[in-house]
Amino acid sequence: MGILEVKDVGKRFGGLKALSDVNLSVKENSCHAIIGPNGAGKSTLLNCLVGKLIPDTGSVMFDGQSVLGRSPHEINQMGISRVFQTPEIFADLTVFENMMIPLFAKRDGAYRLHAYESVSNERALIEEAERMLDDVNMLDKRHMHSASMSRGDKRRLEMAMCLVQNPKLLLLDEPTAGMARADTNNTIDLLKEIKAKRDITIAIIEHDMHVVFSLADRITVLAQGTPLVEDAPENIKGHPKVQEAYLGE
Ligand code: ADP
Ligand code: MG
Repeated sequence: MGILEVKDVGKRFGGLKALSDVNLSVKENSCHAIIGPNGAGKSTLLNCLVGKLIPDTGSVMFDGQSVLGRSPHEINQMGISRVFQTPEIFADLTVFENMMIPLFAKRDGAYRLHAYESVSNERALIEEAERMLDDVNMLDKRHMHSASMSRGDKRRLEMAMCLVQNPKLLLLDEPTAGMARADTNNTIDLLKEIKAKRDITIAIIEHDMHVVFSLADRITVLAQGTPLVEDAPENIKGHPKVQEAYLGE
């Protein structure tokens, strides 16, 4: 049993079958890539995992519990975090100020349980922010204005803001789309560091084959809304069915 089990998922948009008979099992602590031509249904599938869309058929189980019928917020609380294509950070704030936002949000959930909060807890938050920034090698940039950073560093900061929630599953939809090569490599290194340092499962949708083959333990090829092949990276390269799916791209 994988940490994420997708069974017979189907999703229609009016007359368009965006997904049909999707079966996917993502092993705990692996990096599973979902690739496929434009319009294959990759983003739709991801949206079904995070509660943004509800599949018409099938089931989605995460860590032994169904995600169907839960709100995106509840699914996030179950341990699934999603990183968007464009980094979701506040450009007007410094790196450090951005980092404090998810920490305040995390604390405020428990805050209501305590009638009194001492100043020492603010210190603890600051230390946690610094530890997290150190973890993604951004501590020396903590006073920098977020707007002036490279795409790769923005991605690094966003990832740190995501990781303070301690997600069990990190979902990424084309995290390197539109990036220059240096920023793409920076993002690959970051994801490798994250994988090495923590118990985390990564599911990544990615167009850039260099990224896919640098990171993935397992690859699912989606074509016309349905999985075509699932295999180890070395068997995906040059697979006739995969080449066929990408023809005409
Ligand atoms: P991918 O991410 O693999 O490029 P998508 O999941 O975005 O593919 O899209 C799969 C298909 O579903 C496409 O034909 C797309 O036009 C269609 N589609 C996606 N979202 C919607 C929507 N909200 N309404 C109608 N059609 C959609
Ligand atoms: Mg997409």
